[in-house]
Amino acid sequence: AQKRYASLRGLPAQSRCGRITSLHMNAGLMADLPSLEGSGAEGVGLFRTELQFLIRNRMPKREELAQIYARVMDAASGRRVAFRTLDIGSDKVLPYLKPQDEPNPAMGWRAIRVGLDKPGVLRMQLQALIRAAKGRPLTVMFPFIAEAHEFAEARSYLLREIHREKSLGYPTPEQLEIGAMLETPSLAFAPQSFFDAVDFVSLGGNDLKQFFFAADRENERVRRRYDSLSGAFLSFLSQVVARCDASGKPLSFCGEDAGRPIEAITFAALGIRTLSMRPASIGPVKTLLRRVDLDALGAEIRSGLAAGEESLRPRVMDWLATQPE
Ligand code: PEP
Ligand code: MG
Repeated sequence: AQKRYASLRGLPAQSRCGRITSLHMNAGLMADLPSLEGSGAEGVGLFRTELQFLIRNRMPKREELAQIYARVMDAASGRRVAFRTLDIGSDKVLPYLKPQDEPNPAMGWRAIRVGLDKPGVLRMQLQALIRAAKGRPLTVMFPFIAEAHEFAEARSYLLREIHREKSLGYPTPEQLEIGAMLETPSLAFAPQSFFDAVDFVSLGGNDLKQFFFAADRENERVRRRYDSLSGAFLSFLSQVVARCDASGKPLSFCGEDAGRPIEAITFAALGIRTLSMRPASIGPVKTLLRRVDLDALGAEIRSGLAAGEESLRPRVMDWLATQPE
């Protein structure tokens, strides 16, 4: 199987209908970067920056971070890397930041909420990213955005830091993309001003699913209870696709489900054009994407939704069984 996937490395994930899905990888450590070559990923769709903070027992310094981010960009040699700003809190606790005793940390003071309430660390991280980019293109995405104003504030921190770096005489990114992670259902219903302001939206399916179904992603008793191919979840996703399309904003999916071939073809059929996953999933996902006609699958899913099917999984599996190898 490894060999078969290796022979696909240079080929696009082009489905029978002609549609091409962009496949990217998720990363978080320098050690992940060599997989970019091996997997054939187009870029890093999610770089989880908190890992650099979690592997230390003290707060990293700005220059240390800038060096790490620069090495990540060097290793990506021109491919796009979407740096997700610090997502701490919830399951990721930094020993050197006073641990918060919260009754429900997944819904607590985490991610961008910390960044906006105590912007010192966020600003330091943004400065490090700007210095690392040294005039190269820079892609930043903010985690756990629940409301439009949170994105607007985070974005203005980044723009202010760029302005400041420029006034200090540092080179600033020639191209800038600023995205939001959609991980809470509320963001799908944000005012149009949010969709106008954002450069791209990335679905954080792991958190999104836990909040959509109110099922703790860490709790073995409930975490597999609800299916990502449920009619409810797919209807929700198709509404997000429609809003992004109407606003001309690219939409990607970077949760674990993107790396599961059946989920991946379903999301692609709904109109999600970029999927980001662990590197080992790229081969299997690409193989299945190349085998199917996404337009036909999309029509199949729409009929199932119109018929009120609670889960689309049986229909997708039956349809797949009729498709040529
Ligand atoms: C997600 O929630 O789907 C996601 C990609 O972020 P993380 O798994 O790091 O919370
Ligand atoms: Mg998340």
